[in-house]
Amino acid sequence: MDAFCPKCHQLLLWQQGDFYRCETCGKRYLQIAPCPECQNPLQKMQACGAVDYFCQHGHGLISKKRLDFHYVEQG
Ligand SMILES: [Zn+2]
Ligand SMILES: [Zn+2]
Repeated sequence: MDAFCPKCHQLLLWQQGDFYRCETCGKRYLQIAPCPECQNPLQKMQACGAVDYFCQHGHGLISKKRLDFHYVEQG
């Protein structure tokens, strides 16, 4: 899945885990997947190479189609 910088909209380079880097801005970003219902961060669950996102606030498994990733600057 492609990730784009929230500032300059260039493609972000994946680093490790949920961290991405923008070469243009020289910044590191943390990828956050908020629940579309309650906006709380979803728990990432990895099984058999697939990643599922689960809301611990009563919304259960969230379809990846409904996810809207946010990128938070880490400096
Ligand atoms: Zn950028
Ligand atoms: Zn939720």
